[in-house]
Amino acid sequence: MRQMAVYRGRFAPSPTGALHAGSLAAALASWLDARAHDGTWLVRIEDLDPPREVAGATRQILDALAALGLSSDEPPVLQSERGDLYQRALEQLQAAGLVYGCACSRAEVAAAQQALGLPPHVYPGTCRGGTGGRPVRALRVRVPDELVGFDDRACGSFAQNLAREVGDFVVRRADGLWAYQLAVVVDDAEQRITDVVRGADLLDNTPRQIWLQRALGLPTPRYMHVPVVLSEKGEKLSKQTGAVALDTRRPLAELRRAWQHLGFDAVGADSVDAFLRQAAALWRRRWASA
Ligand code: GLU
Repeated sequence: MRQMAVYRGRFAPSPTGALHAGSLAAALASWLDARAHDGTWLVRIEDLDPPREVAGATRQILDALAALGLSSDEPPVLQSERGDLYQRALEQLQAAGLVYGCACSRAEVAAAQQALGLPPHVYPGTCRGGTGGRPVRALRVRVPDELVGFDDRACGSFAQNLAREVGDFVVRRADGLWAYQLAVVVDDAEQRITDVVRGADLLDNTPRQIWLQRALGLPTPRYMHVPVVLSEKGEKLSKQTGAVALDTRRPLAELRRAWQHLGFDAVGADSVDAFLRQAAALWRRRWASA
């Protein structure tokens, strides 16, 4: 049996723009799952990438969540303030002999992929044996040629061979910034997250994260990946595909839209509070034992 009392979930937006219908669906799903388990729900701002950040987005996201009745149970943490934790994890990986410096530019990676017939996201391993004196740009971890799998609560079992399907991946970028994969693993563990509920676009990032957790001696949370909201053109809704900010003057309408997107029939509540209460009860019935 699961220990319901210790449930800790999180919503981890990147402040690259305002909260939109896609990010709200992920936020609502993780909030409902936490409530359905009588758990704690945290907001973590993943502001690791200043060049992609939009001024004011962090405030906008937190205000929009509050207007929708979704407030963090503990003060939100900012990844930009947690570099020491990521540095320590990097050193642990280095001590285990899992990290190497990579000198490849994007163009060099692309050329090697083409020459070897590899898909565009698989690092060809060029610098595994050293950079041949070329200056180090990014730091990568050496992944094994084995399957890493898990049981997703919504999507079922999912596994990847990291060496073949991903390749050695970046933990510190050429511009010195921390990579998402490392930071998310460190923070989920440090915040004692038991349950990750997020968009299905991250399903295929999860084996990398589980492998990193094992390499760092950290526990693996349970995962649940919910459907992503698509744009009219069928692309994942994001700031890049033209998602518009939510209308926080109409919180109930926005919540209803996200709720239907998560596969539920309309609920007849007339306030945000009533809506969230009913939705949490329905979510509990559908997912609490999953
Ligand atoms: N910050 C990531 C994003 O906005 C989500 C990370 C996660 O939920 O693991 O796509």
